Amino acid sequence: MSRFWSPVVHDLTPYVPGEQPRISQLVKLNTNENPYPPSPRVQAAIAAANVDSLRLYPDPESSALRASIAGYYGVAAEQVFVGNGSDEVLALVFQALLQHEAPLLFPDISYSFYPVYCKLYGIAYRTVPLDADFAIDPASYQQPCGGIIFPNPNAPTGRLLSRAAIEAMLQQHPDTVVVVDEAYVDFGGDSMIPLVAQYPNLLVVQTLSKSRSLAGLRVGLAVGNAELIAGLTRVKNSFNSYPLDRLAQAGAQAAFEDDAYFQVCRERVIASREALVAGLAALGFAVLPSAANFVFARHPAHDAARLAACLRQRNIIVRHFQQPRIEQFLRISIGTAAECQLLLSALADILADGA
Ligand code: PMP
Repeated sequence: MSRFWSPVVHDLTPYVPGEQPRISQLVKLNTNENPYPPSPRVQAAIAAANVDSLRLYPDPESSALRASIAGYYGVAAEQVFVGNGSDEVLALVFQALLQHEAPLLFPDISYSFYPVYCKLYGIAYRTVPLDADFAIDPASYQQPCGGIIFPNPNAPTGRLLSRAAIEAMLQQHPDTVVVVDEAYVDFGGDSMIPLVAQYPNLLVVQTLSKSRSLAGLRVGLAVGNAELIAGLTRVKNSFNSYPLDRLAQAGAQAAFEDDAYFQVCRERVIASREALVAGLAALGFAVLPSAANFVFARHPAHDAARLAACLRQRNIIVRHFQQPRIEQFLRISIGTAAECQLLLSALADILADGA
Protein backbone atom coordinates (compact mmCIF):
# COMPACT_ATOMS: atom_id res chain seq x y z
CA MET A 1 0.00 0.00 0.00
CA SER A 2 1.21 3.46 -0.79
CA ARG A 3 -0.17 6.96 -0.48
CA PHE A 4 1.15 7.54 -3.99
CA TRP A 5 -1.03 4.87 -5.63
CA SER A 6 -4.32 5.67 -7.32
CA PRO A 7 -7.36 4.21 -5.49
CA VAL A 8 -7.99 1.57 -8.15
CA VAL A 9 -4.52 0.13 -7.54
CA HIS A 10 -5.26 -0.25 -3.82
CA ASP A 11 -8.32 -2.31 -4.63
CA LEU A 12 -6.66 -4.61 -7.14
CA THR A 13 -6.11 -8.24 -6.35
CA PRO A 14 -3.34 -8.95 -8.78
CA TYR A 15 -3.20 -12.19 -10.70
CA VAL A 16 -0.77 -14.64 -9.12
CA PRO A 17 1.11 -16.30 -11.96
CA GLY A 18 2.08 -19.96 -11.80
CA GLU A 19 5.45 -20.55 -10.19
CA GLN A 20 8.43 -20.28 -12.54
CA PRO A 21 11.10 -22.26 -10.68
CA ARG A 22 14.77 -21.55 -11.25
CA ILE A 23 15.95 -25.08 -10.80
CA SER A 24 15.67 -27.27 -13.85
CA GLN A 25 15.33 -30.73 -12.31
CA LEU A 26 11.68 -30.02 -11.61
CA VAL A 27 8.90 -31.67 -13.55
CA LYS A 28 7.00 -28.51 -14.35
CA LEU A 29 3.33 -29.23 -15.00
CA ASN A 30 1.86 -26.01 -13.58
CA THR A 31 1.57 -23.34 -16.29
CA ASN A 32 0.47 -25.20 -19.44
CA GLU A 33 3.63 -24.60 -21.41
CA ASN A 34 4.41 -26.97 -24.26
CA PRO A 35 6.93 -29.71 -23.33
CA TYR A 36 8.39 -29.68 -26.85
CA PRO A 37 10.71 -27.02 -28.31
CA PRO A 38 9.48 -24.53 -30.92
CA SER A 39 9.81 -25.36 -34.61
CA PRO A 40 13.44 -25.46 -35.84
CA ARG A 41 12.36 -22.75 -38.29
CA VAL A 42 11.87 -20.38 -35.35
CA GLN A 43 15.43 -21.03 -34.25
CA ALA A 44 16.64 -20.42 -37.84
CA ALA A 45 14.64 -17.20 -38.20
CA ILE A 46 15.99 -15.76 -34.95
CA ALA A 47 19.55 -16.86 -35.74
CA ALA A 48 19.28 -15.22 -39.16
CA ALA A 49 18.11 -11.93 -37.70
CA ASN A 50 20.43 -9.05 -38.39
CA VAL A 51 21.56 -7.78 -34.98
CA ASP A 52 22.46 -4.40 -36.48
CA SER A 53 18.78 -3.98 -37.36
CA LEU A 54 17.98 -3.95 -33.62
CA ARG A 55 19.15 -0.31 -33.66
CA LEU A 56 15.93 0.44 -35.48
CA TYR A 57 12.39 0.29 -34.11
CA PRO A 58 10.35 -2.67 -35.29
CA ASP A 59 7.52 -2.44 -37.81
CA PRO A 60 4.74 -1.04 -35.60
CA GLU A 61 2.11 -2.79 -37.70
CA SER A 62 3.84 -6.23 -37.69
CA SER A 63 2.76 -6.31 -41.35
CA ALA A 64 4.64 -9.41 -42.49
CA LEU A 65 3.53 -11.44 -39.49
CA ARG A 66 -0.09 -10.32 -39.81
CA ALA A 67 -0.05 -11.20 -43.52
CA SER A 68 1.25 -14.68 -42.64
CA ILE A 69 -1.42 -15.21 -40.01
CA ALA A 70 -4.10 -13.90 -42.38
CA GLY A 71 -2.94 -16.35 -45.05
CA TYR A 72 -2.91 -19.21 -42.55
CA TYR A 73 -6.50 -18.59 -41.46
CA GLY A 74 -7.89 -17.41 -44.80
CA VAL A 75 -8.81 -13.90 -43.65
CA ALA A 76 -7.62 -10.40 -44.63
CA ALA A 77 -4.64 -8.80 -42.87
CA GLU A 78 -7.04 -6.04 -41.64
CA GLN A 79 -8.81 -8.74 -39.66
CA VAL A 80 -5.67 -9.68 -37.70
CA PHE A 81 -4.22 -7.98 -34.63
CA VAL A 82 -1.05 -9.06 -32.82
CA GLY A 83 0.33 -8.23 -29.38
CA ASN A 84 2.92 -9.25 -26.81
CA GLY A 85 1.19 -12.42 -25.68
CA SER A 86 -2.56 -12.83 -25.62
CA ASP A 87 -2.57 -11.26 -22.16
CA GLU A 88 -1.64 -7.97 -23.78
CA VAL A 89 -4.08 -8.50 -26.63
CA LEU A 90 -6.77 -9.13 -24.00
CA ALA A 91 -5.78 -5.96 -22.12
CA LEU A 92 -6.47 -3.97 -25.29
CA VAL A 93 -9.68 -5.92 -25.96
CA PHE A 94 -11.00 -5.03 -22.50
CA GLN A 95 -10.15 -1.35 -22.99
CA ALA A 96 -11.29 -0.99 -26.58
CA LEU A 97 -14.30 -3.29 -26.84
CA LEU A 98 -15.65 -4.38 -23.47
CA GLN A 99 -16.01 -1.14 -21.53
CA HIS A 100 -19.76 -0.44 -21.59
CA GLU A 101 -22.49 0.52 -19.17
CA ALA A 102 -24.07 -2.93 -19.06
CA PRO A 103 -21.90 -5.53 -17.31
CA LEU A 104 -19.49 -7.80 -19.10
CA LEU A 105 -20.32 -11.50 -18.58
CA PHE A 106 -17.83 -14.30 -18.04
CA PRO A 107 -17.86 -17.67 -16.25
CA ASP A 108 -17.31 -17.69 -12.48
CA ILE A 109 -14.65 -20.36 -12.91
CA SER A 110 -12.45 -19.12 -15.72
CA TYR A 111 -9.25 -17.29 -16.55
CA SER A 112 -8.42 -15.34 -13.41
CA PHE A 113 -7.12 -12.34 -15.37
CA TYR A 114 -10.59 -11.27 -16.54
CA PRO A 115 -11.72 -9.76 -13.20
CA VAL A 116 -8.31 -8.13 -12.80
CA TYR A 117 -8.66 -6.32 -16.13
CA CYS A 118 -12.21 -5.29 -15.20
CA LYS A 119 -11.06 -3.77 -11.92
CA LEU A 120 -8.06 -2.08 -13.51
CA TYR A 121 -10.07 -0.51 -16.32
CA GLY A 122 -13.23 0.15 -14.27
CA ILE A 123 -15.39 -2.27 -16.26
CA ALA A 124 -18.67 -3.49 -14.73
CA TYR A 125 -18.91 -7.29 -14.83
CA ARG A 126 -21.06 -10.17 -13.68
CA THR A 127 -19.81 -13.74 -13.34
CA VAL A 128 -22.03 -16.54 -14.61
CA PRO A 129 -21.88 -19.88 -12.75
CA LEU A 130 -20.72 -22.98 -14.60
CA ASP A 131 -23.28 -25.79 -14.63
CA ALA A 132 -23.14 -28.87 -12.36
CA ASP A 133 -20.68 -30.56 -14.75
CA PHE A 134 -18.36 -27.54 -14.78
CA ALA A 135 -19.44 -26.63 -18.32
CA ILE A 136 -20.47 -23.20 -19.60
CA ASP A 137 -24.27 -23.06 -19.75
CA PRO A 138 -25.13 -20.96 -22.83
CA ALA A 139 -28.70 -20.38 -21.61
CA SER A 140 -27.42 -18.39 -18.64
CA TYR A 141 -25.85 -15.87 -21.03
CA GLN A 142 -29.28 -14.87 -22.37
CA GLN A 143 -29.34 -11.61 -20.44
CA PRO A 144 -28.61 -8.01 -21.35
CA CYS A 145 -24.87 -7.35 -21.16
CA GLY A 146 -22.07 -5.15 -22.44
CA GLY A 147 -20.03 -8.06 -23.76
CA ILE A 148 -19.20 -11.72 -23.22
CA ILE A 149 -15.80 -13.36 -22.84
CA PHE A 150 -14.86 -16.96 -22.12
CA PRO A 151 -11.99 -19.28 -22.91
CA ASN A 152 -12.81 -22.18 -25.22
CA PRO A 153 -11.77 -24.70 -24.04
CA ASN A 154 -12.31 -23.11 -20.65
CA ALA A 155 -9.45 -22.77 -18.20
CA PRO A 156 -8.86 -24.30 -15.73
CA THR A 157 -11.59 -26.86 -16.43
CA GLY A 158 -10.56 -27.85 -19.98
CA ARG A 159 -14.20 -28.20 -21.03
CA LEU A 160 -15.25 -27.21 -24.55
CA LEU A 161 -18.35 -25.31 -25.65
CA SER A 162 -19.80 -26.42 -28.99
CA ARG A 163 -19.78 -24.32 -32.13
CA ALA A 164 -23.60 -24.44 -32.19
CA ALA A 165 -23.81 -22.99 -28.66
CA ILE A 166 -21.36 -20.21 -29.56
CA GLU A 167 -23.29 -19.40 -32.73
CA ALA A 168 -26.52 -19.20 -30.74
CA MET A 169 -24.82 -16.77 -28.34
CA LEU A 170 -23.57 -14.63 -31.25
CA GLN A 171 -27.08 -14.52 -32.71
CA GLN A 172 -28.69 -13.63 -29.37
CA HIS A 173 -26.29 -10.69 -28.90
CA PRO A 174 -25.85 -9.16 -32.37
CA ASP A 175 -24.85 -5.76 -30.97
CA THR A 176 -22.49 -7.07 -28.31
CA VAL A 177 -18.92 -8.24 -28.71
CA VAL A 178 -18.43 -11.92 -27.91
CA VAL A 179 -14.75 -12.75 -27.29
CA VAL A 180 -13.69 -16.38 -27.55
CA ASP A 181 -10.30 -16.83 -25.91
CA GLU A 182 -8.85 -19.81 -27.77
CA ALA A 183 -5.56 -20.11 -25.86
CA TYR A 184 -5.94 -23.92 -25.81
CA VAL A 185 -8.10 -24.59 -28.86
CA ASP A 186 -5.44 -26.44 -30.88
CA PHE A 187 -5.48 -29.34 -28.44
CA GLY A 188 -8.99 -30.52 -29.16
CA GLY A 189 -11.40 -27.84 -30.26
CA ASP A 190 -12.43 -26.21 -33.50
CA SER A 191 -11.42 -22.60 -33.85
CA MET A 192 -14.28 -20.13 -34.32
CA ILE A 193 -12.13 -18.08 -36.73
CA PRO A 194 -14.11 -19.32 -39.78
CA LEU A 195 -17.20 -17.69 -38.23
CA VAL A 196 -15.77 -14.16 -38.22
CA ALA A 197 -16.94 -13.62 -41.81
CA GLN A 198 -20.51 -14.22 -40.69
CA TYR A 199 -20.55 -12.55 -37.26
CA PRO A 200 -19.21 -9.00 -37.03
CA ASN A 201 -19.55 -9.24 -33.22
CA LEU A 202 -17.13 -12.20 -32.89
CA LEU A 203 -13.53 -11.70 -31.80
CA VAL A 204 -11.26 -14.73 -31.48
CA VAL A 205 -8.09 -14.43 -29.41
CA GLN A 206 -5.25 -16.94 -29.69
CA THR A 207 -1.71 -17.34 -28.42
CA LEU A 208 1.53 -18.85 -29.66
CA SER A 209 2.43 -19.70 -26.05
CA LYS A 210 0.82 -23.14 -25.90
CA SER A 211 0.40 -25.09 -29.13
CA ARG A 212 3.35 -23.35 -30.82
CA SER A 213 5.73 -23.67 -27.84
CA LEU A 214 6.53 -19.94 -27.74
CA ALA A 215 5.48 -18.78 -24.27
CA GLY A 216 8.86 -17.06 -23.93
CA LEU A 217 8.54 -15.07 -27.17
CA ARG A 218 5.26 -13.37 -26.06
CA VAL A 219 3.06 -13.36 -29.12
CA GLY A 220 -0.73 -13.40 -29.13
CA LEU A 221 -3.28 -12.49 -31.76
CA ALA A 222 -6.88 -11.59 -32.38
CA VAL A 223 -8.97 -12.26 -35.47
CA GLY A 224 -12.30 -10.58 -36.13
CA ASN A 225 -14.23 -8.17 -38.25
CA ALA A 226 -11.99 -5.30 -39.49
CA GLU A 227 -14.09 -2.86 -37.42
CA LEU A 228 -13.18 -4.64 -34.17
CA ILE A 229 -9.52 -4.84 -35.18
CA ALA A 230 -9.54 -1.10 -36.01
CA GLY A 231 -10.78 -0.42 -32.45
CA LEU A 232 -7.91 -2.42 -30.96
CA THR A 233 -5.40 -0.70 -33.25
CA ARG A 234 -6.74 2.71 -32.28
CA VAL A 235 -6.13 2.05 -28.57
CA LYS A 236 -2.72 0.53 -29.25
CA ASN A 237 -1.62 3.42 -31.45
CA SER A 238 -2.89 6.06 -29.08
CA PHE A 239 -0.19 4.89 -26.67
CA ASN A 240 2.32 4.23 -29.44
CA SER A 241 3.00 1.15 -27.39
CA TYR A 242 3.05 -2.59 -27.74
CA PRO A 243 4.72 -3.18 -31.11
CA LEU A 244 6.12 -6.69 -31.22
CA ASP A 245 9.89 -6.59 -31.22
CA ARG A 246 11.79 -7.59 -34.35
CA LEU A 247 12.76 -11.04 -33.08
CA ALA A 248 9.22 -11.84 -31.96
CA GLN A 249 7.82 -10.82 -35.36
CA ALA A 250 10.36 -12.99 -37.19
CA GLY A 251 10.04 -15.99 -34.85
CA ALA A 252 6.25 -15.97 -34.82
CA GLN A 253 6.10 -15.77 -38.59
CA ALA A 254 8.43 -18.78 -38.88
CA ALA A 255 6.20 -20.73 -36.47
CA PHE A 256 3.15 -20.19 -38.68
CA GLU A 257 5.14 -21.30 -41.71
CA ASP A 258 5.89 -24.75 -40.25
CA ASP A 259 2.50 -26.37 -40.04
CA ALA A 260 3.86 -29.93 -40.27
CA TYR A 261 5.88 -29.48 -37.06
CA PHE A 262 2.93 -27.84 -35.34
CA GLN A 263 0.65 -30.77 -36.19
CA VAL A 264 3.14 -33.36 -34.93
CA CYS A 265 3.63 -31.61 -31.54
CA ARG A 266 -0.07 -31.03 -31.11
CA GLU A 267 -0.83 -34.70 -31.72
CA ARG A 268 1.88 -35.81 -29.31
CA VAL A 269 0.43 -33.64 -26.57
CA ILE A 270 -3.07 -34.97 -27.26
CA ALA A 271 -1.80 -38.59 -27.13
CA SER A 272 -0.02 -37.90 -23.80
CA ARG A 273 -3.20 -36.33 -22.45
CA GLU A 274 -5.25 -39.41 -23.29
CA ALA A 275 -2.66 -41.64 -21.60
CA LEU A 276 -2.57 -39.36 -18.55
CA VAL A 277 -6.36 -39.32 -18.25
CA ALA A 278 -6.41 -43.14 -18.32
CA GLY A 279 -3.60 -43.32 -15.75
CA LEU A 280 -5.31 -40.87 -13.40
CA ALA A 281 -8.63 -42.72 -13.72
CA ALA A 282 -6.84 -45.97 -12.84
CA LEU A 283 -5.65 -44.28 -9.62
CA GLY A 284 -9.23 -43.33 -8.74
CA PHE A 285 -9.22 -39.71 -9.92
CA ALA A 286 -12.31 -38.14 -11.47
CA VAL A 287 -11.06 -36.23 -14.53
CA LEU A 288 -13.13 -33.65 -16.40
CA PRO A 289 -13.20 -34.16 -20.18
CA SER A 290 -10.34 -32.01 -21.50
CA ALA A 291 -9.86 -30.41 -24.90
CA ALA A 292 -6.76 -28.55 -23.66
CA ASN A 293 -3.09 -29.25 -22.87
CA PHE A 294 -3.97 -29.81 -19.22
CA VAL A 295 -6.40 -31.91 -17.25
CA PHE A 296 -8.51 -30.95 -14.26
CA ALA A 297 -8.82 -33.82 -11.81
CA ARG A 298 -9.84 -34.57 -8.25
CA HIS A 299 -9.52 -37.60 -6.04
CA PRO A 300 -12.61 -38.40 -3.97
CA ALA A 301 -10.53 -39.60 -1.02
CA HIS A 302 -7.50 -37.30 -1.02
CA ASP A 303 -7.20 -33.59 -0.34
CA ALA A 304 -5.95 -31.71 -3.40
CA ALA A 305 -3.80 -29.20 -1.48
CA ARG A 306 -2.03 -32.06 0.28
CA LEU A 307 -1.52 -33.95 -2.99
CA ALA A 308 -0.02 -30.82 -4.59
CA ALA A 309 2.31 -30.35 -1.58
CA CYS A 310 3.40 -34.02 -1.66
CA LEU A 311 4.10 -33.78 -5.39
CA ARG A 312 6.10 -30.61 -4.79
CA GLN A 313 8.29 -32.49 -2.30
CA ARG A 314 8.97 -34.96 -5.09
CA ASN A 315 9.96 -32.07 -7.40
CA ILE A 316 6.77 -32.16 -9.46
CA ILE A 317 4.71 -28.96 -9.64
CA VAL A 318 1.04 -28.89 -10.57
CA ARG A 319 -1.52 -26.10 -10.05
CA HIS A 320 -3.98 -25.95 -7.17
CA PHE A 321 -6.54 -23.13 -6.87
CA GLN A 322 -7.96 -21.96 -3.53
CA GLN A 323 -11.31 -21.11 -5.05
CA PRO A 324 -14.80 -22.23 -4.05
CA ARG A 325 -16.05 -25.35 -5.89
CA ILE A 326 -12.64 -26.21 -7.34
CA GLU A 327 -10.43 -26.41 -4.26
CA GLN A 328 -10.40 -30.21 -4.50
CA PHE A 329 -9.07 -30.19 -8.07
CA LEU A 330 -5.56 -30.25 -9.43
CA ARG A 331 -4.78 -28.73 -12.81
CA ILE A 332 -2.05 -30.77 -14.42
CA SER A 333 -0.32 -29.58 -17.62
CA ILE A 334 0.50 -32.22 -20.20
CA GLY A 335 4.24 -32.88 -20.18
CA THR A 336 6.24 -35.33 -22.25
CA ALA A 337 5.13 -38.96 -22.02
CA ALA A 338 8.03 -39.53 -19.56
CA GLU A 339 6.98 -36.59 -17.35
CA CYS A 340 3.37 -37.81 -17.27
CA GLN A 341 4.65 -41.24 -16.25
CA LEU A 342 6.75 -39.72 -13.44
CA LEU A 343 3.70 -37.87 -12.20
CA LEU A 344 1.56 -41.01 -12.22
CA SER A 345 4.20 -43.03 -10.32
CA ALA A 346 4.57 -40.26 -7.74
CA LEU A 347 0.80 -40.06 -7.27
CA ALA A 348 0.57 -43.84 -6.92
CA ASP A 349 3.21 -43.67 -4.14
CA ILE A 350 1.50 -40.77 -2.39
CA LEU A 351 -1.93 -42.42 -2.51
CA ALA A 352 -0.48 -45.72 -1.25
CA ASP A 353 1.39 -44.42 1.78
CA GLY A 354 -0.88 -41.46 2.45
CA ALA A 355 2.09 -39.10 2.85
N1 PMP B 1 -5.98 -16.90 -21.95
C1 PMP B 1 -6.01 -17.99 -21.17
C2 PMP B 1 -7.30 -18.69 -20.97
C3 PMP B 1 -4.82 -18.46 -20.57
O1 PMP B 1 -4.86 -19.53 -19.78
C4 PMP B 1 -3.62 -17.78 -20.81
C5 PMP B 1 -2.31 -18.29 -20.23
N2 PMP B 1 -2.15 -18.14 -18.89
C6 PMP B 1 -3.64 -16.63 -21.60
C7 PMP B 1 -4.83 -16.23 -22.18
C8 PMP B 1 -2.42 -15.78 -21.83
O2 PMP B 1 -1.41 -16.41 -22.51
P1 PMP B 1 -0.23 -15.59 -23.19
O3 PMP B 1 -0.21 -14.21 -22.61
O4 PMP B 1 0.99 -16.37 -22.89
O5 PMP B 1 -0.54 -15.56 -24.66
